[in-house]
Amino acid sequence: MRYAILSDVHGNLPALQAVLDDLAGRAVDALLYLGDAVGYYADSCAVAERLAECVAPRSCSGLAAPQRPWVAGNHEWGAIGRLAPQLFSPAALFALKHIRADMPAATRELLAGLPERLEIELDAGLVATLVHASPADPVGATGAGYVENGEDAREAAQFFSTQICLVGHTHCPLICREAAEQRPGRPRWEAAEIFDDRPPGNRLVFGSERLLFNPGSVGQPRDGDPRAAYAVLDTTARAFELWRVAYDIAETQARLRAWLSDAPAALLDARGGLAERLSRGI
Ligand code: ZN
Repeated sequence: MRYAILSDVHGNLPALQAVLDDLAGRAVDALLYLGDAVGYYADSCAVAERLAECVAPRSCSGLAAPQRPWVAGNHEWGAIGRLAPQLFSPAALFALKHIRADMPAATRELLAGLPERLEIELDAGLVATLVHASPADPVGATGAGYVENGEDAREAAQFFSTQICLVGHTHCPLICREAAEQRPGRPRWEAAEIFDDRPPGNRLVFGSERLLFNPGSVGQPRDGDPRAAYAVLDTTARAFELWRVAYDIAETQARLRAWLSDAPAALLDARGGLAERLSRGI
């Protein structure tokens, strides 16, 4: 099986469309989604509806049909009023208010029904835990659930028991693996260096070690590369592949300005604003 792994689209429909077009050439069998379909950009509801079509229910063990392999993120909970407003930045909160005002009942129902975590048998004997933020804080409801390096992965490993854990939330691609040589009582985790954007440097082949993997963000990358990020997990080759896709950033920025026309300029176009940061991938 070949799984596409996507996360953090955040209402950026041009980025999602570019990734789905790119996926058409990668012989993928199914799509896993790690949360935050909504938030920040102009097309949250359209993105949620598009993902509902693509992230199809399938009969994995541990996944009750018709459950989709899509876990809730903090912005999904923000959009349905399940998280306190203080947990969001002023720009995120401004966007969430508009999203809530525009959201059809069916989209709200879809978001409200998303699970906080899933365990899925991806292939015979290969099981993955899916969460948005971290296995200790699945949805990112505390504001502290960021897994950013090997040390964070070592902490996180106490909260999942499967071989693989898939997370999003930081908007930066990351692969951490449990190191072969162990000190008793303190397993060591290290970040793998595979971040070229094309083969073979974008590919990590794994064995029986435990892994934590973040595909980066489709809609708002924060690792300095403005292109949309996603990943493919090939369970036969036992490999993760990271991919980057250029998309029409100016279109997303224009749609944002039209949608949030009542926003203070600083929220959109000042340095670090929602539109400006897309050009820099931060
Ligand atoms: Zn996010």
